[in-house]
Amino acid sequence: MGTNTLITRSDVYVAGRWVRVDDDQLIDLVDPSTEEVFAQAPLASVAHVDEAVAAARTAFDSGPWQALSRKERMDLLLALGDYLRSRADEYGDQFLAETGVPVALARGGVHSVAGLAAYVASIYENYPWKETRTGVSGVHTELERVPVGVVAAITPWNAPFSLAASKIVPALLAGCTAIIKASPMNALSQLAFGDAAEHVGLPPGVLSVFAAGTEASDHLVRHPSVDKVAFTGSDTTGAVIAAAVARQFKRLTLELGGKSAGIVLADASVDRILATVPPGFTRNNGQACAAMTRMLVPRDRREEIVQALAEAVSSLVVGDPRDPATNVGPLAGKAQYDRVLGFIESAVAAGGRVVCGGGRPAGLDRGYYISPTIIDGVTADAKVAQEEIFGPVLTVLDYDELEDAIEIANGTAYGLSSAVFGGDEKEMRAVAARMRAGSVHFNNSYMTDIGIPFGGFKASGIGREFGPEGLDPYVEVRATFLDGQPRVPRPAVRS
Ligand code: NAD
Repeated sequence: MGTNTLITRSDVYVAGRWVRVDDDQLIDLVDPSTEEVFAQAPLASVAHVDEAVAAARTAFDSGPWQALSRKERMDLLLALGDYLRSRADEYGDQFLAETGVPVALARGGVHSVAGLAAYVASIYENYPWKETRTGVSGVHTELERVPVGVVAAITPWNAPFSLAASKIVPALLAGCTAIIKASPMNALSQLAFGDAAEHVGLPPGVLSVFAAGTEASDHLVRHPSVDKVAFTGSDTTGAVIAAAVARQFKRLTLELGGKSAGIVLADASVDRILATVPPGFTRNNGQACAAMTRMLVPRDRREEIVQALAEAVSSLVVGDPRDPATNVGPLAGKAQYDRVLGFIESAVAAGGRVVCGGGRPAGLDRGYYISPTIIDGVTADAKVAQEEIFGPVLTVLDYDELEDAIEIANGTAYGLSSAVFGGDEKEMRAVAARMRAGSVHFNNSYMTDIGIPFGGFKASGIGREFGPEGLDPYVEVRATFLDGQPRVPRPAVRS
């Protein structure tokens, strides 16, 4: 253990104060670029969960939070974003050490909290918090969008800052109180939200923050005083949570995995493919839910496209995530590294060809590095073409008829993102109209925009984050009927 440089934090942020965890709740965090422990960080216990939920309940039911105006709450969220931005290098570098995400992306994640707060500040006044509506009977009603209550915001390790922000910014603005439950892998960096809550003076219980293991996390989602679970993570965990909360009829949004496909049409420009696909499937070291990891190419263009892609991919810089020149860092941990190698082996066993990459890059003997990998020659039902890999692996499949391509693109459990490459917008629109995915990109691998709703069809999730739609999961609609009886008499029923 490199004790000289070991970072230690041992408190979780619960109910407006820092609470020390027991020694056996401190975990070692391993830097995936060195394979060495760089920090010890705290996990919350079941008792911490109980305390955080009780405080969130009180702060929601009888605390000052809802008494503040939306503008006052928004100002606090903007201040929270500003505070994180002011320490973005420090927190971003902790996130980098936890996961190996390249430095610009890691620090950018911290900045994204301020970015989302600024965006929401620019649109929230136009949200229909209160409206009047006359019903078909003539009755006058007032519709109000009221906060849903206590929110458990559960985040994955790959983008914890932006995905905590996508939950707590709309939730707290609406008047909810929230608990950020981070992945154990982010047990250090996510305490940043506690620092920020303390710094801006959020009332106790409005925001608690901690990482936790399975038992305490399960306790949180099942807690009867939690009204809503906002989850981003794997479909496996999403299904466990959905089952756990079903009987309680908790509000639930799920942002899950993906196996996004790009359909290359006959007239697609190779330049657009080369400009967008290599950075697309390797973003976040290939650990991005919406990464386009399947390319469907016309059979007669396969060799041309595969070879051009292999050449482009070989110019990506794989290495130290702290070096700004690096495009692709290590996988986030040993388990992830072994898992990705297992997928590559399964592809070879299924008759696939490793066109480039396929394992550890030359010269990088330490760290969980895998070279960006392109595989072709497998069928659409191969494991590597069906399951989410979460690593820098692109599978290229060929097709004869466009119908086949659309069927293959839609032929996984997922439906998060998709793409169409072509020269004719009318044709691309016709294909896009048949994609069973939450987003379709023309001549682009994938991108996200906080003004545009993001989410999935099918096993990629339920609900949307970002855009004005990102506020919807944090409100309930209450209709107040203002007239005792309808003004317009009901039409007589004729027999
Ligand atoms: P994961 O499902 O293993 O864990 C996600 C979170 O759930 C973590 O905080 C974890 O501690 C927690 N958790 C685990 N068991 C739980 C339980 N029983 N009850 C409550 N919480 C529990 O996912 P991960 O490995 O951290 O993240 C990678 C996954 O996230 C990938 O599948 C990726 O596609 C997905 N993801 C989706 C999006 C999206 O917006 N759709 C974005 C990023 C990542």
